[in-house]
Formats: sequence, structure tokens, C-alpha cells
Amino acid sequence: MVAPAALPPLSLYIHIPWCLKKCPYCDFNSHEKRGELPEAEYVDALVADIEASLPRVWGRPIHTIFIGGGTPSLFAAGSIDRLLAAVRTRLPVDPDAEITMEANPGTFEAARFAGYRDAGVNRLSIGVQSFDDAKLAALGRVHGADEARRALEMALRAFPTVNVDLMYALPEQTPDEAIADVREAIASGAPHVSAYHLTLEPDTHFFRFPPRLPQEDAAADMQESIEALLAEAGFGHYETSAFARPGHRARHNVNYWSFGDYLGIGAGAHGKLSFRDRITREVRERKPASYLRAALEGNALAESGDVDERELPFEFMLNALRLVEGFPVALFTRRTGLPLAAVEPQLAQAEDRGLIARDIDRIRPTERGRRFLNDLLERFLPGEGEARAPRVINIVSKGTGRP
Ligand code: SF4
Repeated sequence: MVAPAALPPLSLYIHIPWCLKKCPYCDFNSHEKRGELPEAEYVDALVADIEASLPRVWGRPIHTIFIGGGTPSLFAAGSIDRLLAAVRTRLPVDPDAEITMEANPGTFEAARFAGYRDAGVNRLSIGVQSFDDAKLAALGRVHGADEARRALEMALRAFPTVNVDLMYALPEQTPDEAIADVREAIASGAPHVSAYHLTLEPDTHFFRFPPRLPQEDAAADMQESIEALLAEAGFGHYETSAFARPGHRARHNVNYWSFGDYLGIGAGAHGKLSFRDRITREVRERKPASYLRAALEGNALAESGDVDERELPFEFMLNALRLVEGFPVALFTRRTGLPLAAVEPQLAQAEDRGLIARDIDRIRPTERGRRFLNDLLERFLPGEGEARAPRVINIVSKGTGRP
């Protein structure tokens, strides 16, 4: 039985599951808005969910909160205010907690930014994706480039930290077009940029009807140029897709990547909680209507269970090896309760292949390891080394704040 040496920092993730329209590439738990949203009822359900979860996180301070979705900015500032007030009265939220919210860059949402800030949100993550109208149309986005520019300007006035979400390797995109998007994000003055490679996920419209995407080589060139441009502009590259000016890293995401704990509330939200003798994972009811009913009845959990000790090395590495600087050697044992010797053969093999570098203090992925991350990670799958069969690893939680 595992026994983490000490409980890790705890974050809170809150999922708002509706969007104006489902984007053709999206595999998140998001549902097209039909008619009025049950906004007040959903906040009541979230509060009931927190109350039912209290015994599992009793007394533990909350370091960061992330309100993601879906499109949380479909909710009025008053609802976010009521939600955050309810969180604060039930959980010990750190006075300097990072409180992030995701927003769509539409005009309608931008008008609400000041209200979200007054509610206590101190970091806004805007889903710009591209500053090119043709690319936004190809992605099925409901906003245009000018709306995104205006929303970004308003966000930068209202919040101390703003993240611009961009995607590259878009349908028929050229490297110059991808570079133009990044240049504009840098010029906007936003201190954090996330740049995600568009991927075709199962169960999406794009998976069924694939658009013409750039070749792998062109996409790799885009990635290299994006990393170089952001480095030149003073952004530190700290995770596969995340770049920040000093002092603006996403603490919430860094907690995931450091195999920290998170309570996830809301439809379909996932959570990971450590105890003195075990680590558990839990998942809420996925459909908004089922979640509402279940949470208001006092049990929103659809699944929960202990993580098998054999899965822990892979779970830890899946997160920690996304960090460009890797992780302190001692963190592995602190988070998993396992000795580092449990993964020594895999580490030695990865080092031999040039996928990781290590010294007495840290283990980090090399550039080659970051490029072939799946190859690196699959070494830590339970049973690997006994019988190696090719496995496909879906690197989920693409750094969006959603567990
Ligand atoms: S990509 Fe974002 S806006 Fe589009 S459907 Fe998914 S969650 Fe909603």
C-alpha cells in the first residue's frame, strides 16, 4: 500500500459544461447551450458538491482554483461571485490563491471581465486560438479575430495575468501563418501564451471528417519557430505547450504536472486526492442534467477508487516529464510513496537512449525526450519491460487547466 510522505498541495477545479456551439475538434465535456442555462441551479449543485466532498479534504488549504469548461464566461459575474464566495466559506482558500477562469473572446463575454475580477478571479485564460478569420472559421469558432483583439485588450486592463490560448498546425495553415499568430500574441502584451498542436481526437467531428492538416515536418517546423520566437521575446518555456514571462507561470497547472492533488467539481470533473495510506481518483457524473440531479441529492460521484500502486510511476511521469525543467529527484517518492529504485531500470534505459538527463538533484526530459514524449512515457507503463508491445498514449489534459 502506498503512503505519500506528506500530502501534496491541493487545487480546486470547477467545471462549467456548456458552450454556445460545439467546436469540431473538441473532445472536452462541453455541451451546446440550448435555451436558458440553469445557472443558479448549477451553482447550487457545485456548492452541494463541495459540501459532500469536505470530509475528503478536511482542513487542507486550497492553493489555486481553476474555473474551466466548456465556456465559464457564459455565466454572469454575479454567479461566479456567488460560487467563489461559497468556496471561500467552506474551504480554507489561501489569501494569495491563483484564481483562473477561462473565457471566450466574444464581445458579450468581454463586457463581463471587470465583474469577474471583482468576484476574485485574478487570472484570465482566453481561448483566442488564432488571429486569422479564415482559420477561426475553419475551426468552427464563434468569434472573429477583431473580437479576440478587443477582448484581449479588455482582459489585460482588468487582470494582473492573462493567458492567450493559441493552436497551430491548423487546417491548411502555413508556418508563416502560425508565426503571425504568435507574433500577435506577443505584441498584445499578454504575459502567458499556451500554444497547442491541433490533434484529431476520437469522438470529434474532425476525427470523422478530417480536414487537410499540415504535414508532420511542417508542424514540427512551426513548433520550433514558435518556441524560438517566444524565447526571443523573453518567455520561459516551462511545459510542453506553456510559455510565461517571469512570475506568470500557471501555478494551477504546475500543481497537476508536479503530481499535486486536486478536487474536481462539476459535470464530468476528475479529481485526484492523496491520503496517508492511498491515492484515489474520482469522476463526477458527466451529463449536466445527471450531474445536477446527483449533486443536489448529495452524491455527484460517478466513479472513485484507489490508484493501483503499479500505475503510480506512469501517472507521475505522465505529468512530471511534461515540465521542461523536469522534477526534483525526491519528488517522486514524496508524491507516490515509492522508492526511486522502483523505476531505476526504466530511468537508466531512457537515459541511455538520450530521452532524459539526470544529476543528483533533478531528472528532466532532454529535447529528444520532449519530442518523443510518448516513447519516453510508455517505458513507465505497468508491465513494460516484461513484454513490450507498442502502446498509444493519449496525452490528455493538454495543459488547459482541465484535469
Ligand atoms: S473548444 Fe472550448 S469553446 Fe469549443 S466546444 Fe470545446 S470547450 Fe467549448
